[in-house]
Amino acid sequence: MASPLKNSILLVGAGPVGCTVARVLAELGYQCHILEARDHIAGNCYDTFDKHGVLIHKYGPHCFRTDDDEVFQFLSRFTKWIPSEYIVKSQINDELFQFPINIETLEQVFSKKLDKESAAELLEELRDNSITQPANSEEFVLSRIGKRLFEMFYKDYTSKQWGRPASELSPSVCGRIPVRLDRYPGYVEAKHLCTPEEGFTALFKKMIDHPNIKLTLNCAKDHWREELPRHQATVYTGTIDSYFDYKIGKLDWRSLSFEFKNYQTELKQPCLQINYPSKDFEYTRSVEIKHITKQKISSTTVSYEYPKSKGEPYYPVPAPKNQELYAKYQELAEQELKERFVYFCGRLAEYTYINSDEAVKRALDLSAKIKDQLS
Ligand code: UDP
Repeated sequence: MASPLKNSILLVGAGPVGCTVARVLAELGYQCHILEARDHIAGNCYDTFDKHGVLIHKYGPHCFRTDDDEVFQFLSRFTKWIPSEYIVKSQINDELFQFPINIETLEQVFSKKLDKESAAELLEELRDNSITQPANSEEFVLSRIGKRLFEMFYKDYTSKQWGRPASELSPSVCGRIPVRLDRYPGYVEAKHLCTPEEGFTALFKKMIDHPNIKLTLNCAKDHWREELPRHQATVYTGTIDSYFDYKIGKLDWRSLSFEFKNYQTELKQPCLQINYPSKDFEYTRSVEIKHITKQKISSTTVSYEYPKSKGEPYYPVPAPKNQELYAKYQELAEQELKERFVYFCGRLAEYTYINSDEAVKRALDLSAKIKDQLS
């Protein structure tokens, strides 16, 4: 076997992690080769113009947010930003409610005026205070806001999204959603809430535009196995179970399919995203990304999201069985690092439900580690 080329790094996957590590190491003089099975870069952040000319997020909405200045500054080298506010409503019996739950939601549900104190008292009455240490997402929500609001906003949405009840998911799943004792209407709060001016694909394209970075698209799924021995180190961002040929079992992944509908109107929905907790709708949410891209175009495209168990992996499923299996794969991954300098990083490789800013943060930290370990 040929010995590996010195200072050469293989990146398996052209998503946020692969592109970030490639850029940082390329600037340090490493030769970086990115392999990507799809016909495009940017992973699930990929955005593209549909046949009507509307910029869409092909794999679901990316509402960029970060509190991390290092991440923000790094990304800002490759894009200008449009300030964003991510407004989400939940549709229940034809009525739209502010979501995440805040004082306005509570006023609407309980038909009474509230302030911070009376809203806090109301939640205290509603919450199940017998649950002191929630063991799963259902218990987590019940302990925060009680049965009535759980059943209205979370119960069926979660079982549609995950194909299992909230009682079988770790508390962190529904724990992503805040409950607010104010009237802030946005989905998330963060120091930087913004959208890349020309989109995510343009951002990552600029990021990997460097003489030390080579990109190969449309690779056969396993092509990296041939390339790996030729490089000094590899950053693998695909699913960890597939790296090991599923030899100790298959992890569960949740997938999605999308239906995109174009409408000959400026805007179709009152806000970026509408959630549909009811089982009367097969889809979980409709997203009109134009609310945040602010594209000047006379028509609009809305995506309808249908969760499913088969298909491209989107979400790791945070349930005990998967977490145990992942821990075993992690041990194998540590061996690969020792024996072959293979680093596992990102949502799929670390079986972790992280947002894109956290993926970039992990990639920046990993780049520093690789630099130390290889020099
Ligand atoms: N969730 C819910 N009702 C909603 C929105 C979210 O029950 O209206 C739960 C659901 O289990 C979901 C989780 O909260 O998977 C996290 O929601 P988020 O919007 O952060 O999901 P993502 O955008 O990552 O798909």
